[in-house]
Amino acid sequence: MSILIVGGAGYIGSHVNKYLHRAGYDTVVVDNLCKGHIESVCCGEFFCGDIGDEAFMDRVFSSCKIEAVMHFAAYAYVGESVISPSEYYENNVIKTKLLLDSMRRNSVNNFIFSSTCATFGNATEIPITETHPQNPINPYGFTKFVVERMLYDYDNAYGLRSCIFRYFNASGADPECEIGEWHEPETHLIPIIFEAATGKRAAVSIFGTDYPTTDGTCVRDYIHVCDLAEAHKLGMERLIKTGVSENYNLGCGKGYSVRETINMASEITGVNIATIETERRKGDPPTLIGAMQKAEKLLNWKPKYSLKDSIETAWNWYVKKEKLEKK
Ligand code: UDP
Repeated sequence: MSILIVGGAGYIGSHVNKYLHRAGYDTVVVDNLCKGHIESVCCGEFFCGDIGDEAFMDRVFSSCKIEAVMHFAAYAYVGESVISPSEYYENNVIKTKLLLDSMRRNSVNNFIFSSTCATFGNATEIPITETHPQNPINPYGFTKFVVERMLYDYDNAYGLRSCIFRYFNASGADPECEIGEWHEPETHLIPIIFEAATGKRAAVSIFGTDYPTTDGTCVRDYIHVCDLAEAHKLGMERLIKTGVSENYNLGCGKGYSVRETINMASEITGVNIATIETERRKGDPPTLIGAMQKAEKLLNWKPKYSLKDSIETAWNWYVKKEKLEKK
């Protein structure tokens, strides 16, 4: 039996693919390569195609014995979702529904879903637990929230079981430096800092300095992509064993402001990074920090990496990728 990883050529999916492979699982990767990179698929069988293409998905399901599906094939930029909500609802909601129906047609009932802390919106209690009300404030968060609801209904009606992970800010890269974060164009804070550190951009724009936080900039909880990968393995194993759907917040329980993150990256890269203060980015809540006690208790999972580790591993990968691109 294999684990099907849709979106396995993207940032988080490619790390989960490598992690599962190392843990002895057979994996099958499906990706349409619209955002992902074939170079990031370092193991497993690969099929190029779209999760919304039912005939294609039926071919994948009939040629491989699939025990569980992990879904990473989503658009994940808050700012872009505010500008292009149609694309977000199409890709993140409609295609996920088609994927779930393909699973039903092929009698695969275990689903691991990448949701997000953006489903919580403006948090009223920090750290954010799984029972915190979900009131997303941007289309990206809404698309993930809709799928969470869909999964609840598919479980009740069709017995399709799910493990929902609400990530806080995924960061870092494979410590072996084989794969890493690779988005074109880049919008995430840490790789953008590296672009400024290497002269690819003049400065990092700090989006908003008047938030109700200690230094006025947004606070985020950065969780290393390899910690996320481990949680996926543990969550999937529990889901298969118990047959009970569950949701978990995956964060470190510690927040860093945009300024603190830039300062730490300056120390690690050894470069004094230029910044400019700009308007707030639409759709950004001031503070997102996750409680991880539920995952700790039910999955025996605890983050192993700090923000420093995330920036260091991401920097090593960034420098390696730059060298390869120059060759
Ligand atoms: N951010 C910023 N400048 C940038 C990119 C991001 O100030 O060039 C801020 C952003 O407003 C947010 C935090 O950094 O408060 C993390 O943003 P990112 O896009 O990395 O992740 P998100 O929180 O949107 O998932």
